[in-house]
Amino acid sequence: MTNENWGEIRQGLKKKVGHNNYVTWIEPLRFEALESGVMTFTVQSNFMGNWVDRYFREAILGEAGAHGLDVSRLRFVVRKAADDPATHDDQPQPHAPVAAAPGRPRKVAAAPKGVRPVTASDSIRLDTNQTFDTFVVGKPNELAHAAARRVADGGEVSFNPLFLYGGVGLGKTHLMHAIAWELQARDPSTKVLYISAEVFMHRFVQALREKDMIGFKELFRSVDVLMVDDIKFIAGKDSTQEEFFHTFNALVDQKKQIVLSADSAPGDIDGLEKRIVSRLNSGLVIDIHPTSYELRLGILQRKFDLFAKQFPGAYIADGVMEFLALRITQNVRELEGAMTRLFAHSSFLGREVDVPMAHEFLHDLLKEADRKVTIDEIQRTVADHYMIRMSDLLGHKRNRVYARPRQVAMYLSKGLTNRSLPEIGRKFNGRDHTTIMYGVRRVEDLMAQDATLAEDVELLRRALTTR
Ligand code: ADP
Ligand code: MG
Repeated sequence: MTNENWGEIRQGLKKKVGHNNYVTWIEPLRFEALESGVMTFTVQSNFMGNWVDRYFREAILGEAGAHGLDVSRLRFVVRKAADDPATHDDQPQPHAPVAAAPGRPRKVAAAPKGVRPVTASDSIRLDTNQTFDTFVVGKPNELAHAAARRVADGGEVSFNPLFLYGGVGLGKTHLMHAIAWELQARDPSTKVLYISAEVFMHRFVQALREKDMIGFKELFRSVDVLMVDDIKFIAGKDSTQEEFFHTFNALVDQKKQIVLSADSAPGDIDGLEKRIVSRLNSGLVIDIHPTSYELRLGILQRKFDLFAKQFPGAYIADGVMEFLALRITQNVRELEGAMTRLFAHSSFLGREVDVPMAHEFLHDLLKEADRKVTIDEIQRTVADHYMIRMSDLLGHKRNRVYARPRQVAMYLSKGLTNRSLPEIGRKFNGRDHTTIMYGVRRVEDLMAQDATLAEDVELLRRALTTR
């Protein structure tokens, strides 16, 4: 493959990932080589390589495939710049091949003597960033957090397994990594095995083929804590389920802790055998709820300093984090992605990013909600919610019973539509744009102190954007 091929692949990627992503992440990649299925690029930082690998790997592999190239893996080499004293050693290096470089985080899996160790390619390396310290706790995840803490304290096993489930990007993997870090920190001799169900299955099949079931069994049964992430992969594969079940029972009998994650409750996982479901249900089953506005804002605020360090020279205006928390609601990973994009743009452009610019840069992520929400609709929904008349919502009564919903409607109009403040003002009985601005700010301030209001706003937002 030549640079020219890469040029063509890049063009294809541009369509796939959108202009902004393309400029920020794909264009700066420098193609180096394609050898035995490994495509190598040079990048400016580990952070960049990790990011591309995490979010654009599928797109790149797919596009390369479409050009008749057989690429199975991406590799990123950090460009050695003489003027770059910080080599980003402290960056998280979770899933990208660059993490294989020296100085990576401690490995967790420790195999017993005489048994083939779980190799780096089996056991997913722990992400140094995914600890309890960096996990932001809110109502939606407080139970899961408490249970994870309990497991991480070590000591006697009081529930087995701990089964965490919830939607994509809500922190299941983060909590599992946090448990592993904590257990290791408390007692480095604890054998913690964190593994994805996919890898578990892969190893199982491999052991069958190599007629090494004994080694396989001993390996899994010799750990103190077994964590299997995303167990839906096991479902449906009968022999793996069987083995999983035996391993599971053996560990439970030995009072070893097991932690599992999935995207739905045990009973809702397709193809999972009944007796396994009931065994899982005999432990502690906890779901992580969708994030609330408060939690999202908390997460963004917690990450702010970290991002500021990663993107020197980036400036993010007041109100942008609130805007993100209001608009990007499905998945914390997406929220982080949006934040990264804004910081990256600001840093690359050397300009402060404000809310209108955020709108523009995040166009593709936001368009879902942009679709059809109108100010009229917002006003009607808010009036209904607070059980007041439209005439009172739009009128001039200063009583809080009317004033608060009015301000909430202003806030949502600003956040959920593309209308300018003067345009919104016109829709609110010809009010001045400064009045709208005041209303928006007021709600922002209040949400930070008043969880009930924040919840109301979140409910309204969902009602408005998900119909
Ligand atoms: P899941 O495994 O549930 O799909 P992850 O644990 O991979 O989700 O979380 C996705 C991203 O969001 C990760 O980068 C994680 O660190 C972050 N994240 C999720 N929840 C939180 C939280 N409560 N506090 C801080 N970061 C979070
Ligand atoms: Mg996960």
